[in-house]
Amino acid sequence: MEKREQLYEGKAKKVYATDDSQMVIVSYKDDATAFNGQKKGTIAGKGVVNNRVSNFLMQMLTESGVPTHYIRELNDRETLVKKVEIIPLEVIIRNISAGSFAKRYGVDEGIVFAQPTIEFSYKNDDLGDPLINEYHAIALNLAGPNEIARITDMAFHINEVLKAYFATINVELVDFKLEFGRVMGDYIVLADEISPDTCRLWDAITHEKLDKDRFRRDMGGEVEAYNEIMYRIFGEKC
Ligand code: UDP
Repeated sequence: MEKREQLYEGKAKKVYATDDSQMVIVSYKDDATAFNGQKKGTIAGKGVVNNRVSNFLMQMLTESGVPTHYIRELNDRETLVKKVEIIPLEVIIRNISAGSFAKRYGVDEGIVFAQPTIEFSYKNDDLGDPLINEYHAIALNLAGPNEIARITDMAFHINEVLKAYFATINVELVDFKLEFGRVMGDYIVLADEISPDTCRLWDAITHEKLDKDRFRRDMGGEVEAYNEIMYRIFGEKC
């Protein structure tokens, strides 16, 4: 597989073309941003943790029947994935109240819900990723009704698989963000990443935060938190 020109540079990843028009290489950076890019920094080793953790979880999801963009890990920071047309929706599943949910509805963090919730944001940095509902997504032509239904089913299934796995390593899956893409015109696959950047992960006993909230909230210990997740999954730190 030959790595060719850079196609795109995002906040946490770069994307490169390859000699196959259907495949791209994702390269994970240590750069961290929060609050729509207003807060910037780096978390040493984050790129390696996110690449390896995301690939591990994508493989687990593939085995459970979820189609994903993952093809193969090339090295500690780079992965070969299917080229997709990203659907401009951030799909957020929550099991426990935290973050913008707690703020918006005026409730404490840490309330365990009777059943998981789903919400959609329109992925648009200029607008600050506004919250929308299914009907708005269809009205804005971001996705069709069948796509929204499929994405919703996939997202709740993914939650069950991930929640059960994280429980085995003593981690509570509080909430997380997913992105989906289309391959070959219409087939929907899970894309982007699943990592401590995109999930809230709390230690099951102490409820200590093992995710990007440590960076967002200036708590410190973010390198250790990312490494702790790596250690619990792989038995090694980076
Ligand atoms: N999230 C994300 N990218 C975003 C917004 C949210 O990965 O642009 C993740 C975040 O890490 C958390 C979940 O989605 O696990 C829910 O985030 P929330 O809506 O509470 O927003 P936040 O409080 O992070 O602004």
